[in-house]
Amino acid sequence: MTYVIKGTSNRAATCDECGKDVQHPIQLETIDLTGNPLGHRTYVGVDCAAARTRRSAKAVKADAARADRERKADARRQAEREAFSQRYDQAELEWLRETYGVTTIDEASERAGKDWIDVWTEARAALTELD
Ligand SMILES: [Zn+2]
Repeated sequence: MTYVIKGTSNRAATCDECGKDVQHPIQLETIDLTGNPLGHRTYVGVDCAAARTRRSAKAVKADAARADRERKADARRQAEREAFSQRYDQAELEWLRETYGVTTIDEASERAGKDWIDVWTEARAALTELD
């Protein structure tokens, strides 16, 4: 079986390999021979992670720390995307109220007798400073 190091867990667990209690288990995921994840995740201590991945304990810790950093960066980017999306929706709502006196693009297009895509394009142009 081939494993990739997915990071560290802050929740203590029992090592899936040797059964010892581990404070900060290493999360491993099975991968196929070409490196595609197979989705099966296990939690093991550093030494057992080292044995399973045929790496040194030091290398396992470094890989786990890097995976943790990448996971945090992904979460931050996701949060930024969601925050932007919320700001955009709010600004679009305000723009629709001010410009057409309505709250949806459908209502605006009906009221103005314009195509939905034209109202959407107007809104997009008016809100570009948010990008
Ligand atoms: Zn173990």
